[in-house]
Amino acid sequence: MSIWDELARHGQELIAHAAKRLQFHLPTEPVPSHWPRILARNVPLARELSASDQERLLRVARLLLDEVPFEGCDGLVLTDEIHVTIAATASLLVHRLPYPRFTKLVRVLVYPDTFLPVKAWSPRDQTVLEPEATLGQAWMSGVVVLSWTAVQRDAAQSADENVVLHEMAHILDAEDGIFDGVPLHDDRNQGEVCAATLQREFGLHRDAVDSGEAGTLSDYAARNHAEFFAVATEAFFCTPDLLRDRLPDLYLQLSRFYRQDPGGASVQR
Ligand SMILES: [Zn+2]
Repeated sequence: MSIWDELARHGQELIAHAAKRLQFHLPTEPVPSHWPRILARNVPLARELSASDQERLLRVARLLLDEVPFEGCDGLVLTDEIHVTIAATASLLVHRLPYPRFTKLVRVLVYPDTFLPVKAWSPRDQTVLEPEATLGQAWMSGVVVLSWTAVQRDAAQSADENVVLHEMAHILDAEDGIFDGVPLHDDRNQGEVCAATLQREFGLHRDAVDSGEAGTLSDYAARNHAEFFAVATEAFFCTPDLLRDRLPDLYLQLSRFYRQDPGGASVQR
């Protein structure tokens, strides 16, 4: 059995385990009465959801906050607004999944503004770089680091990027143990089709960027497969109509994976 088969098998077991636990852990009681106001104010991407989907989103956010410790850094005091804004935005990715949780996520660190990573590596060849001020990071160990300023920026405008979605997409990508730009699917055949599409679209995008053309996604997505998936996820939620028009195959695979069609109804498998 190859390492890839081992990883896939491990992933199937992990998802089955998570789905089983979900039956006991998705909170059923009403969320605090002020949470919907925070959602309405700070998570513009949730405004298109139905009332029942918004309610489910907040219960998934509550599950995330119950299970994953958040920590304020550089003197930032965490408030309900910070907790709910980040958790509800992250939950946009998983609230339609049969296992709406981040199995790999162990901690969320929130800085008031930009932060300096301890180490930085080149995304292309993994050489060590001089650290630069950063707005978000996701580590293979399951830690996500966020700038509250960046989160607020994304909450305040109809942005075409979103740091929470980006870093949490990396955490989904890491569920099978590698940042390879292919998230773990509970249906293996669907996962293989999705992987082939992501591979092909990444190659086309990198070729376009290398030849100086403007792609549908940002140049940053050409850095490696993991960044391509994270940036594509941002586009799927932030500018879904554009992604569907320009890159319909990619849109379809993301729509099947997230079980959502951000411009319309939920996708049935
Ligand atoms: Zn990234």
